[in-house]
Amino acid sequence: MAGTIDAAEAAAGAVEPGDVLRFARALITVPSENPGGTEDGVATVAAEILEGLGAAPEIVRSDEQRPSVLATVGGPGTASLAWNGHLDVVPAGSLDTWSHPPFAGDVASGKLIGRGAADMKGPIAAAMAAFAGIRRAGIALGGSLTYHLAADEEFGGVHGTKVLWERGLLTQDAAVVGEPSELTLGLAERGGAMVVATAFGKAAHGSQPHRGVNAITSMARFLMRLEEVLPDVEHPLAGRPTVNAAMIEGGSAPNVVPDRCSVEIDRRLIPGETDQDAVLGSFRDLADSLHADREEIDLRFEIREWAEPAETDPGSEIARVARGVVEAETGRRAVDTGFTGITDARFYINGAHIPTVILGPGSLTVAHTADEWVDVGELVAGARIYARLFVGFLGA
Ligand SMILES: [Zn+2]
Repeated sequence: MAGTIDAAEAAAGAVEPGDVLRFARALITVPSENPGGTEDGVATVAAEILEGLGAAPEIVRSDEQRPSVLATVGGPGTASLAWNGHLDVVPAGSLDTWSHPPFAGDVASGKLIGRGAADMKGPIAAAMAAFAGIRRAGIALGGSLTYHLAADEEFGGVHGTKVLWERGLLTQDAAVVGEPSELTLGLAERGGAMVVATAFGKAAHGSQPHRGVNAITSMARFLMRLEEVLPDVEHPLAGRPTVNAAMIEGGSAPNVVPDRCSVEIDRRLIPGETDQDAVLGSFRDLADSLHADREEIDLRFEIREWAEPAETDPGSEIARVARGVVEAETGRRAVDTGFTGITDARFYINGAHIPTVILGPGSLTVAHTADEWVDVGELVAGARIYARLFVGFLGA
């Protein structure tokens, strides 16, 4: 045990800040916007970096040819760990909202700026620089570390980590998903139901609205009470469920009473909310109560997409080791948190039943924004934490 702690310390000490920045900039300068682009270019760059670290990366393609990069380092030994990061980024948006070009990887005032700096090419660079440090320190890992650099996380993960799960590649003892968590330990994440609500009315001449039923008005009455669909539940890490009316469509012409109105509703789920009928049931209950007051209100619901919430046992080995290495690196108590967004961790936790922590440098508050950035010092601390974690979990 003392040997492992010394080795972890040595590995962290051998992490080169120059590696972290070089890898991060190499990844950021190859755009992989999703939707709208592909991960092919950045997958090649990631594979080259991994080759330079002595790995033999392979590219696994989804049926739609989206590439995920897999590479195993370390071993032999029986323990195994997966480190997961996604290669795609959300679109940069309007370039004039950026004060630095989104794909340049500029560094200013101690910040690395660019699309993916925090979410999550920066964390991927940190995870690769961590292994470079381990090698530089001359440490042989006592088990295998497999990088899963996945396609398509930002648009649902169905062409990336989900494919790895379906092909039986999520077999490790534990996993780390390096989403930007400000170096806290994410042990729970919310899920989401995309609910489509449709109000049905009756068309009529716009000058004689009393002859029709206005579907937009029905929907408006429903939306004014939308929060009533939320159950009164709370998770210690993931908080409470939320609901957001995200997109609306209705009506056919300015002089026609609309007979149809539909809204896409983003209903976020907390761990424990796994019953689709229960979620839809509360929507129906609200519709029934509106209908009881006004007979003409006719609302129907369906779930278009469903992502299960997920949580890992805070007492699991990976959580215990991760907590210890964060404390060793930062000198502060590690904080257990819940992740508000949906991540690929759910495929490890719910799909493959692998204990998984979300742990990475950078903040979700700047992810997906213009001028996305990550503090260079935090990125390097992230690399040092990963170096300690890989040695601490797998042994040396
Ligand atoms: Zn992300």
